[in-house]
Amino acid sequence: MIPAALDPKRTVRATAMAPVPYTVFDHRRETRDTVTLTLLPSGREAVPPFAPGQFTMLSVAGIGEIPVSVSGDADRRDGRIVQTIRAVGAVSAALCGAEAGRRIGVRGPFGKGWCLPAAGGDLLVVAGGIGLAPLRPLVLAALARRDRFRGFHLLVGARTHADLLYPYLIDAWARRGDMTVAATLDRPADTWDGRVGLITGPLEETAIAPERTTAFLCGPEIMIRVCAGALVERGVPAESIQVSLERNMQCGVGWCGHCQLGPYLLCRQGPVRRWDHVADLLDVEEL
Ligand SMILES: Cc1cc2nc3c(=O)[nH]c(=O)nc-3n(C[C@H](O)[C@H](O)[C@H](O)COP(=O)(O)OP(=O)(O)OC[C@H]3O[C@@H](n4cnc5c(N)ncnc54)[C@H](O)[C@@H]3O)c2cc1C
Repeated sequence: MIPAALDPKRTVRATAMAPVPYTVFDHRRETRDTVTLTLLPSGREAVPPFAPGQFTMLSVAGIGEIPVSVSGDADRRDGRIVQTIRAVGAVSAALCGAEAGRRIGVRGPFGKGWCLPAAGGDLLVVAGGIGLAPLRPLVLAALARRDRFRGFHLLVGARTHADLLYPYLIDAWARRGDMTVAATLDRPADTWDGRVGLITGPLEETAIAPERTTAFLCGPEIMIRVCAGALVERGVPAESIQVSLERNMQCGVGWCGHCQLGPYLLCRQGPVRRWDHVADLLDVEEL
């Protein structure tokens, strides 16, 4: 029997509101509170392909539904979706507890993702904590076309060693030799002989050519504000800085208005926005 996910007769449904049933195919524990799920369509329907930086709404029956970014690469030959979730409340904890075989509802993909620049520029990726998850598809897409870009710098920050996401990938990327990788922890650990301190340290030390750099930032909002500000001071044009912003989202399609940031509904016009579009808005308290 052909597994449903490989069935050539499978139909793709652009699902604004009705979740498509998916089944957990693989459950990988990443850190003490974070899990990566690989989901395969349970039947003949699948959601459309996604772009790096987009998100889906994941639902667990009887518990609820939350926005989660796609964290795997864009290779959708078997319809799989890879998503990395940190348990912070009821729905995210239920998703983190979903073992292989568990049914999950998927709507999406939604939103605007990262935009890789034209060939010839430098890439600077700055990730804080779980922020590396939405950036992973971008890193993978850029590495698949590595010869199109010049410099490629990845900076990763985590609170503790136990919170460092994808350490196996960070090591593999650092060993490639065609990109620079710097990881830093907020707090020292016996198990860590790397750098300790805020991500602004390695950011200051990374040699960049500001005029040809495109920067991609995702992490706590304070990290985004400080790092984007530092890059602008070093001469990176604000329009060359892309940031992914999180707001409370419920419908994912611009109806409920929960994710409004000034003139933008981040579920549709985000979560990735250019820094020159949002810098002033993020200065307004509680907007
Ligand atoms: C576009 C987008 C992409 C996201 N991608 C990911 C991802 O890849 N992986 C991941 O683990 N999480 C991601 N999140 C955050 C995730 O949606 C929230 O952690 C989740 O909604 C919490 O729901 P809950 O029911 O588990 O907890 P709740 O009980 O609803 O909340 C628990 C705590 O988390 C806070 N919280 C709730 N929603 C958000 C939110 N949207 N942003 C920040 N804090 C929130 C609450 O204020 C509360 O303090 C994303 C959010 C957005 C908007």
